[in-house]
Amino acid sequence: MGVLVIGGGISGLVAARSLALAGVPVLLAEAGPRVGGKVGTEHVDGFTIEHGPDSFLATRPAAVLLARELGLGDELVGTRDPRAVFIRHRGRLIPMPEGLGLVLPTRALPFATTRLFSWPEKVWMARDIVMPRRLGSDDIAVGVFLRERLGGALVERLAGPLVGGVYGTPIDELSLDAVVPALRTAERDHRSLLLAGLADGRAMRRSAARRPAGQRSLGVFVSLRAGMDTLTAAIAASAVAAGAEIHTGLPVTALARAGAGVSSAFADGSRAVFDAVVIATPANVAAGLIETEEANAARALSTIPHGTSILVTLAYRRDRVGHDLVGHGYLVPPSEGGAIGACTWSSQKWPGRAPDGAALLRMFVRDEGAATSLPDEALVAAARADAERTLRISGEPELVRVARYERAMPRYTVGHLRRVAAVEQAMAAWPAVSVIGASFRGVGLPDCVSGAATGAARMLERLGAGSTADAA
Ligand SMILES: Cc1cc2nc3c(=O)[nH]c(=O)nc-3n(C[C@H](O)[C@H](O)[C@H](O)COP(=O)(O)OP(=O)(O)OC[C@H]3O[C@@H](n4cnc5c(N)ncnc54)[C@H](O)[C@@H]3O)c2cc1C
Repeated sequence: MGVLVIGGGISGLVAARSLALAGVPVLLAEAGPRVGGKVGTEHVDGFTIEHGPDSFLATRPAAVLLARELGLGDELVGTRDPRAVFIRHRGRLIPMPEGLGLVLPTRALPFATTRLFSWPEKVWMARDIVMPRRLGSDDIAVGVFLRERLGGALVERLAGPLVGGVYGTPIDELSLDAVVPALRTAERDHRSLLLAGLADGRAMRRSAARRPAGQRSLGVFVSLRAGMDTLTAAIAASAVAAGAEIHTGLPVTALARAGAGVSSAFADGSRAVFDAVVIATPANVAAGLIETEEANAARALSTIPHGTSILVTLAYRRDRVGHDLVGHGYLVPPSEGGAIGACTWSSQKWPGRAPDGAALLRMFVRDEGAATSLPDEALVAAARADAERTLRISGEPELVRVARYERAMPRYTVGHLRRVAAVEQAMAAWPAVSVIGASFRGVGLPDCVSGAATGAARMLERLGAGSTADAA
């Protein structure tokens, strides 16, 4: 009895830990050979390679707080200066204007003088200042809204690569309400997005001025000194110390009702009955697990689309790279063509990611068109061509890795929150089973952490923590 947690990514690990800390017997079943899910770090020849996330947002505190709670406070590292990011425009790298918030300028001058936009494009953007509010109550694509207010150039060259890139979804399909609700609030409160951005900038500068002298914040993005899997390993260790059992290489194949409990079938042919189950896999996998028992909920879960994310990592000898690599990397708008959407200069962005004299590059394959169906060799060739041309690199890479996540990246398309509400409503028919994870209310690690903690708390409430522990 007790609770079965399916999936050992960060969401499943956090849920298993919370339940175990509350005294509930927990079995976590992970299909793969290790825990961490998309969080995966490789150490080789002095390189620290992240095959999934390389950082998380400090501005959404759940992951930072968890790291501190696990004793990893001193392991948190911020990005190195200078924090410049470039956009490739007509083959050349142009610095992103300084003081850019998510997509809105927080300072006027760098935006007014950037080479990224022509004067007619800037004048077009400035119309936003006098434009009335445009949003109705319905969700809308981020790209459609921004194009209307600020013009196509901003969507094409900044918002698309920045926001669409992070969410692995074309910006003209991405849900405003699920991904950047702050833009809705900005229009509601300030009418003009540009004026809202500048007001945010003033507030940020006031709060930075109040920070005690000499205290430097870690910045917007933080990572862990020895790699991101330090965090998932620590969550797993803490869950086990609290009494959870973690089994890797144990895929769950189906769930069924068993009285008030849930019967789980495992790929090795075994079965077991639990008081309750927390599914922490992508929603499309969760749908398959419950479809014979709860077809309505399975259908609701299947409405959340999932795309493919592919990361090609390349390392070169530093003296083979013609570019000075001063900054964190570059973004590639779709109009530039090619399969690559972004390149992070990991050896520059983070301390300790590459040995001296080496450059470590993280190349993101665009999840649009046919790129993600290409074989690894073709993607490596595309990544090499992009990096070698843009950064004037000669010679062969010293190291090549490809990480693929097939149909495993949730796409928050327009109407996402409505689909999530429908999932929650349909899942209410089977209260012994709940779903958590990146497919629902945030793909970033902090949102996964807080979503999993909330999911576990609801499950505990339902079980009545004491009685479950006694019953098991
Ligand atoms: C390349 C890449 C870069 C990213 N960069 C960032 C970043 O910099 N910052 C950030 O905050 N986020 C980033 N993300 C997003 C973030 O990594 C994910 O949203 C998050 O890790 C998802 O965690 P999860 O536990 O919900 O799901 P997952 O990590 O997908 O875990 C689900 C687990 O379930 C297991 N599983 C599946 N089916 C079964 C089954 N039948 N039985 C048992 N187990 C099963 C899987 O093997 C997997 O381990 C990135 C993602 C990718 C792919």
